[in-house]
Amino acid sequence: MNFELTDIQKQIRQTFREFVNRKVLPRAKAIDEERKFPMQLFREVGKLGFFGMRYPESAGGSQMDIVSYCLAVFELSRGSLSLAAVCTMQSLMATYFLYRLGDEEIKTWFHEALEGEKIGGICMTEPNAGSDLFGIQSRAEVLEDGFILNGQKTWVTSAPVADFFTVLAKTEQTKGLSIFFVPSRLEGVKIGKSIEKLGVRGSVTSEVYLDQVRLPANYLLGDLGDGTKYLVEILAEIRIMTAALSIGVATAAFEDALQYALERKQFGQVIYNFQAVKMKFAEMKVQLETARHYTLYAASLSDQNLPRHQESMIAKLYASECANSICDQASRILASYGFAEEYSLQRYLRDARFTLIGGGTSEILKLNIAKELKK
Ligand SMILES: Cc1cc2nc3c(=O)[nH]c(=O)nc-3n(C[C@H](O)[C@H](O)[C@H](O)COP(=O)(O)OP(=O)(O)OC[C@H]3O[C@@H](n4cnc5c(N)ncnc54)[C@H](O)[C@@H]3O)c2cc1C
Repeated sequence: MNFELTDIQKQIRQTFREFVNRKVLPRAKAIDEERKFPMQLFREVGKLGFFGMRYPESAGGSQMDIVSYCLAVFELSRGSLSLAAVCTMQSLMATYFLYRLGDEEIKTWFHEALEGEKIGGICMTEPNAGSDLFGIQSRAEVLEDGFILNGQKTWVTSAPVADFFTVLAKTEQTKGLSIFFVPSRLEGVKIGKSIEKLGVRGSVTSEVYLDQVRLPANYLLGDLGDGTKYLVEILAEIRIMTAALSIGVATAAFEDALQYALERKQFGQVIYNFQAVKMKFAEMKVQLETARHYTLYAASLSDQNLPRHQESMIAKLYASECANSICDQASRILASYGFAEEYSLQRYLRDARFTLIGGGTSEILKLNIAKELKK
């Protein structure tokens, strides 16, 4: 597998690197503290074309490969995992089903979402159904000319500011899950209060209540009961993207720790000189580079349309566990300053926890990786 980046890929990385250094890093602390959706930066990321990177030019996107997308995500999540989380949600889960399955009316929402003018969310999780999506209780009653949707969703990223949702629900007609398009302004859609979180605080999340929501027939996305089939289409990409989010935050922790260790003096010398500290850097570097390369490898398989189901799970599991380990090691290097609010490390440490959950928990990924081995 050739890992030499093309000129275009290098250019994309540079564009997002400069944007993050200039615009995101100065705001990263405030995004975390304000606990508000970072609207202005979100729109600027939209102007950079990030939301359309994975869609064809005929649909208003720029048809970039997923390696390029990962390079952009590495940079965004190095700057702020909150911002990166809402932007990746917009560019993938929130818009994919509109692009893939929506009619002309729904495609107009999709186009506005690519510009960052409309914000989307995906409603899968429920209070009693997280990893086990088949346990959802939201129901769509099938009428002659549409549907009536009832249910309660939770942990919906961007819900407090969202214009539309993609909602997973069951029907009486089929055992499978179905996907519905639900504008947030429809009667019966109620957004709960924001869920206060340990990390990614600028990526606002809340419950969504669906009470007798009347939907026209064209708001069913795809065929009744085929939701899982459509979800599987982007599952590998979601996992590769979550691996990329992990690598960005880990890079930030690593770089902060390195700078600190090269400046902080104890016992008459910079702490980097102590062997115990050097060992930590060697271990972190191995984890970071292995995770980065494996993620780009999984991404390149996807770009070549090769099987990548197992590789995407390995990438996500390994990168998210490494990110948490690197943030922990980096925090030890800063010691008391790693514990101080004034320094960014405590934010990385909190934010990185999210990568262990989004895109499938480590336990679920291990189960699925093991299941593949039997095939
Ligand atoms: C910041 C954030 C944003 C999110 N955004 C969204 C969103 O936009 N839309 C959305 O729909 N959801 C969203 N989620 C929800 C997320 O997808 C779920 O949290 C995730 O699927 C895990 O579900 P759960 O938290 O209910 O944990 P559970 O599924 O209840 O799991 C609890 C524990 O049990 C373990 N476990 C469960 N089943 C098994 C098993 N079979 N074998 C071994 N161990 C098992 C898990 O690994 C975990 O350790 C978000 C979550 C977070 C934290």
